Amino acid sequence: MIEVKHLTKSYGSVQAVHDVSFTVGDKEVVGFLGPNGAGKTTTLRIIAGFLGATRGRVTVDGIDTVRDPVRARYRIGYMPENVPLYPEMRVGEYLQFRAELKGVPRARRKQAVERAMDDVRIHDHAQVLIGNLSKGYRQRVGLADALVARPSVLVLDEPTAGLDPNQIREVRELIRTVAEQHAVLLSTHIMSEVEATCDRALVIDRGRLVAQGTLDALRTLRRSGATRFVVRGDGARAVEVLKNTGEIHDVRDVRRIADAVVLEARWAAMADPTRETEQAVHRLVAADLKLQEVSPVKTSLEDVFALLTEEEPRESDPSVEVEDSAASREEVEP
Ligand code: ATP
Repeated sequence: MIEVKHLTKSYGSVQAVHDVSFTVGDKEVVGFLGPNGAGKTTTLRIIAGFLGATRGRVTVDGIDTVRDPVRARYRIGYMPENVPLYPEMRVGEYLQFRAELKGVPRARRKQAVERAMDDVRIHDHAQVLIGNLSKGYRQRVGLADALVARPSVLVLDEPTAGLDPNQIREVRELIRTVAEQHAVLLSTHIMSEVEATCDRALVIDRGRLVAQGTLDALRTLRRSGATRFVVRGDGARAVEVLKNTGEIHDVRDVRRIADAVVLEARWAAMADPTRETEQAVHRLVAADLKLQEVSPVKTSLEDVFALLTEEEPRESDPSVEVEDSAASREEVEP
């Protein structure tokens, strides 16, 4: 596991990372999310042992990356954003070379390379020159490189940057597979990446960790201010009833399921969604409409990201740790 405590990094007068603390547990995939220049690469490079910290401490499986960098480095597989590959080498040959550099004993090297190539499914490309690989396959070689010394922790810097949608899907699948045996920390500024691959996210903005939690818990940071009603019977009548209910902003007819209609009622900014929902339920029932389901509309992670990283001056300690139980409080009782 990775443990980061009060990590700070300054480049001259630029404070790239400020008092950042978090942990990544075994077999957990954690997304490190933030806009450009937020401090993601700097943090990952410090964890991987390629950069010193100004203050703070990083341990990997309990080994201090500053006091014992060589031992710590054996535990970490790092894939930088631009994987530095040698175009004139063949894939298998390159991985042999990397395994040697990483101290994999000669007797175990061949087997380690075979296994890494199996993990990322590039066995059939072992003899291909790296210079002839597509960007997606080069990313796989980078991942195999990170895996070849069998580290317990994987640190991946924007692993899908520059890939096409099919390649992105493949690399994400690979990440989920390798995560079954490793702790994974991956940086990204793409929200869907986090949704597709991560159990938990850390949000960093201008060097400070502004939130961390499971994706559901993070969503509760911003209320959507909307309620979904599934109503059986006369859909047009249901829309009419909702439009005449309390502090309504608008009502959308989202879709039909068999003989029911799914409606989303967005409440006015100052309204209390719980109270408005209760009133709406009474009115719909009084109008003889059959309610199948009532639930809050989930906030998208994009909304949360915008909320946390918007360009506004911050209060002194804005960091939020969101517990999962917060998610259940968000549920509206029908
Ligand atoms: P991106 O998503 O664009 O890669 P990032 O979140 O990874 O961004 P970092 O690359 O860690 O952000 O940069 C954090 C801040 O530190 C930025 O303001 C950047 O300009 C600055 N910075 C990074 N490296 C150096 C350096 N070697 N010297 C001076 N400033 C640097």
